[in-house]
Amino acid sequence: MGSGGVGKSALTVRFINASYLEWYDPTIEDSYRKQFTVDGQACLLEILDTAGIEQYLTLNDLFIRESQGFVLVFSLTQRDTFREILKLRDTIYSIKSTFDIPIVIVGNKSDLGDEREVETSEGEKLAERWGVRYFETSARTDTNVWLVFEEIVRKIRSSDHYKRP
Ligand code: GDP
Ligand code: MG
Repeated sequence: MGSGGVGKSALTVRFINASYLEWYDPTIEDSYRKQFTVDGQACLLEILDTAGIEQYLTLNDLFIRESQGFVLVFSLTQRDTFREILKLRDTIYSIKSTFDIPIVIVGNKSDLGDEREVETSEGEKLAERWGVRYFETSARTDTNVWLVFEEIVRKIRSSDHYKRP
């Protein structure tokens, strides 16, 4: 989840297809499945690439309820998108009836060095406050994208609500 244009679809496509799409329809909300191995254990991850919480509030309500983990993405080049993830976390907490929620924070577009508006230390500070991991990624240059999805799988596995098959 995250503001429009931060690169949610680009990160998802990079992870699923190992490719980069310069343009992806911002209104498409779709789900993808990928089987991979984390810490020697196979997993099947289903990723819902959301397309704006405002437009699809009721749908997102349901998706939040049913999702086991959340990747909160902002753009390192747009400070307002960083603020937005604070709101998203509140929304998730208000819909989930637990505080044991697997979350990862992602600052995307790390390749756009001169356009940076959010410092690494700010992302790290927020992550420390929330007790979660923070990654700076680039879907364009394929930097740290896998780490994000591996980490969310680890968090889901270690959460109380994860039921082993
Ligand atoms: P979404 O609305 O969050 O799904 O964002 P998109 O994935 O559609 O990306 C929005 C725009 O940002 C597109 O033009 C992408 O090409 C661009 N973009 C996404 N990720 C990156 C990145 O890591 N680096 C750069 N430079 N541009 C990116
Ligand atoms: Mg998108």
